[in-house]
Amino acid sequence: MSNTAINNLNVAKFGGTSVANFAAMQNCANIIKNNPNTKVVVVSASAGVTNLLVDIAHTAMSKEQIRQKLSEIDSIQQAILQALKNIDEVEPKLQQLQSSLSELALHEEINHRADLKDSLLSHGERMSSLLFSAVLNQFDVKAENFDVRNVLKTDSEFGQAVPNLEQIAIAAKQLMLPALVDSVLVTQGFVGSDQQGNTTTLGRGGSDFTAALLAEGLGAETCEIWTDVIGVYTTDPRITASARPLPELSFEEAAEMATFGAKVLHPATMEPALRQDIKVFVGSSKEPEKGGTWIVRDCVTEPSYRAITRRKEQVMVTVKTPKMMYAQGFLQKVFTIIAEHKLSVDLITTSEISVSFTLDNPANSVLKRLNQETIEELGQFCDVLVEENYDLVTVVGNNMHSAAGVSSKIFAAVADYNLRMICYGANPHNLSLLVNDSDSQDVVCALHRALFE
Ligand code: ADP
Ligand code: ASP
Ligand code: MG
Repeated sequence: MSNTAINNLNVAKFGGTSVANFAAMQNCANIIKNNPNTKVVVVSASAGVTNLLVDIAHTAMSKEQIRQKLSEIDSIQQAILQALKNIDEVEPKLQQLQSSLSELALHEEINHRADLKDSLLSHGERMSSLLFSAVLNQFDVKAENFDVRNVLKTDSEFGQAVPNLEQIAIAAKQLMLPALVDSVLVTQGFVGSDQQGNTTTLGRGGSDFTAALLAEGLGAETCEIWTDVIGVYTTDPRITASARPLPELSFEEAAEMATFGAKVLHPATMEPALRQDIKVFVGSSKEPEKGGTWIVRDCVTEPSYRAITRRKEQVMVTVKTPKMMYAQGFLQKVFTIIAEHKLSVDLITTSEISVSFTLDNPANSVLKRLNQETIEELGQFCDVLVEENYDLVTVVGNNMHSAAGVSSKIFAAVADYNLRMICYGANPHNLSLLVNDSDSQDVVCALHRALFE
């Protein structure tokens, strides 16, 4: 068959809890069966597996401790394997993955080489996709396990690899489309490969991004993100029971929410969707009948307030020089150092002699963290103050910078809390507040009451 697009193609992604065990996988199989347009399936590692792999990759441990982690991973995967009818066919392949996994885990350099870490991390998705394709076959869906590394080409920034869109589009059309005529392809989220063929990963939560990238490369019409909540909510339902699911969202709103902490979507997921106008659905694989959120270009409504997000573990850096008034290029110098250390700045405020900015700094992130070296480099030409224990709370909406009264309602709701930094006006879709981490839950709840209840 020629490698031209398939009509109405849907790419479905199932997150960690959705492929956590055999029963959860069975729900996913039913979802796939019910939509004949679903021809590409992207899976995360079974819940808990990536965390265990990250522990092995990032923490110096004794061989005994490593074996303990490996056996925890093994018992998650064995439980699924044992529920399969065609164990004999799948077991040798799983064993192969397990032995390459334990070889990497016990490698002397595992804590020091980013390429080995990514190879190790990729095993979670490689095992779950193998098992899930067997589950689909068991439920009469003809499925093949497809190695995403043949298609998902990236640079060599291990842990946070950047996809090469052109190569992905060519390879997806060449290698995946022809196979979709008579099979569903089950492939790995989160994983890619660089130009030399080394395994890379896209950053935590990256399987959503994989699904959107493949949807883009294949010219899909829709991309479904099946997870453990019945859509994108007004705020994280774990923060307040008053949060409620949203029937629709615009690409921009969803992108803002993901960027500012709504974990339900990886921050980059909306980029391919926006470029190719791919409708994205978010729903619960456990309760598909409850519907979910459709993320589209144009929504029926454009409310001033759509949702509230929170991002934890932010640091605020203030650099100050008495010479700033006269010193041209001060900001450039500061941001060159930040860029060289591959740190990404979120909020910025400036005064005549100082500039403050925030950085995402979660302890278990694979992203670069603010380190002593960066602080010392900055310290060579200005005073540097680093403040920790902040969270970023963001209200996401529309035309927020141009409608009267939008910000006053927000500030009235949080009048009782110290706002360390405010970011507003650069973008019509958000207003961000940096607050003490001990206040952030209350701040989100107060805003939710004022804006949505
Ligand atoms: P998956 O493993 O399926 O990718 P994640 O744990 O990454 O699932 O994302 C789903 C979780 O995102 C939910 O359980 C919820 O706690 C969290 N979340 C954060 N913000 C939101 C939001 N605004 N709407 C829905 N879920 C959210
Ligand atoms: N398994 C990876 C993680 O836990 C990727 C994903 O689930 O999206 O971060
Ligand atoms: Mg996720």
